[in-house]
Amino acid sequence: MAIATLNPTTGIVEREFAPHTPDQIELILSRASAANATMRSTTFAERAGWMHRAADLMDADLDRLAALAATEMGKTIATAKYEIGKSANGMRHYADNAERYLADETPVEPSTVGASRARVVHQPLGTVLAVMPWNYPFWQVIRFAAPALMAGNTGLLKHASSVPQVALYLGELFERAGFPTGAFQTLLIEGAAASRLIDDRRIAAVTLTGSVGAGSAVAEAAGRNIKKSVLELGGTDAFIVMPSADVARAAEFGANSRTQNSGQSCICAKRFYVHTDVYDEWFPLFLEKMRSTLPGDPFADGTGFGPMATEQVRAEAHELVEDAKAHGVTVHTGGDLPAGPGWFYPATVLTGVTPDMRIYREECFGPVACVYRVESLEEAVDLANDSEFGLAASVWTGDQAEIDALQDSLQFGAVFANGNSASFFGMPFGGVKDSGYGRELAGNGIREFVNVKTLWQA
Ligand code: NDP
Repeated sequence: MAIATLNPTTGIVEREFAPHTPDQIELILSRASAANATMRSTTFAERAGWMHRAADLMDADLDRLAALAATEMGKTIATAKYEIGKSANGMRHYADNAERYLADETPVEPSTVGASRARVVHQPLGTVLAVMPWNYPFWQVIRFAAPALMAGNTGLLKHASSVPQVALYLGELFERAGFPTGAFQTLLIEGAAASRLIDDRRIAAVTLTGSVGAGSAVAEAAGRNIKKSVLELGGTDAFIVMPSADVARAAEFGANSRTQNSGQSCICAKRFYVHTDVYDEWFPLFLEKMRSTLPGDPFADGTGFGPMATEQVRAEAHELVEDAKAHGVTVHTGGDLPAGPGWFYPATVLTGVTPDMRIYREECFGPVACVYRVESLEEAVDLANDSEFGLAASVWTGDQAEIDALQDSLQFGAVFANGNSASFFGMPFGGVKDSGYGRELAGNGIREFVNVKTLWQA
């Protein structure tokens, strides 16, 4: 894929970038390597000061950055501003909490292991390669970079080829804020080149957010080199509505979840399981909200959602809808490619989805909802769990016993009750099954890229 800013609203290439040459890549790697020693000698307080400054810089650049995200991947200005603000606050969270998350531990009384002193410390691993996607071009990177840098690591960003200007901005941000030269840099390279880079001995570990295919390529290279990896590979998240739910709220939040970011979110609801007792009340409300949430110009006020980020992602989503149509699905709204420029796609609602349709199992990265009527909580759980993915689920019920049962039995990395799936700085984020492994955010996230070192003294 060419490294370029291709405006998804117009379909016009606005800027192209040459990939880094082997010499440039070598220079970037050696700078990162040299920065490891410098970073290890810095204190939490120093890093926290720089991290706060980086957050302030992002806030100061808010309008310019929001326009960049809207131009490079089509998200609305309002949602871009929200993402950038969240990224800045995420940096502040790690600036203020990293030392606590990585505090030394005394897991046992030293005498019980025959020691006079016994403790566990957390040291940086070195240079971590981050392969990142375009859908939340700031937040996906920051939720890796803030903890990794606060732990004393250095970072190399291989961002998606469709967001090069965001990538270049982030590659300069941390040095502008005061971090040592080489602490965080951007590599302009294509996907396959990133997998090959994992063979380089100067790369200590790798994290990837993206598709299952890219994740398994990176995991294969990491495994071959015995390097730590974290994978966040999306999902087909379930949304369950039970009879005691606030039905109107569940309809509104469900539609918001499915259309957010033009449906291009790993944790937005994609499969809706609605109990038969409230189905006829919930479905028209949901359908109306989906119908009235309209795609449009990401720069205009009041746009429901922008175009899809790339022609390919739109084609993949539409292919799943076409396959479902060919197998007899019912389309209640949307489902057709609009005429005109740009990669727009309408909010789409499908019922009658059956296991012979690809969309029953595959992730649809577009604003397409699959709605199922269920007879019981058990049926909802069985269908929700009948997936290769397991990132997050959202359940709607006023019954605490049902919340407990659903949170216990759903096979996902997170289960939200009476609220949409989301990520929070202080709560771990990640999945099971094909949604990946390892966790981002919270203490769990920052401890993925440290040497948990045991210190024992007779
Ligand atoms: P990819 O997985 O191809 O892209 C994500 C990142 O991985 C990009 O930086 C990409 O680089 C890189 N990459 C691609 N192939 C390799 C490889 N072999 N080795 C190392 N890195 C690689 O996603 P797409 O943009 O093609 O989107 C396709 C699908 O992926 C979506 O429809 C969705 O299902 C899923 N996805 C999930 C995301 C999530 O949040 N979990 C985010 C984005 C996509 P480059 O851009 O240069 O190809």
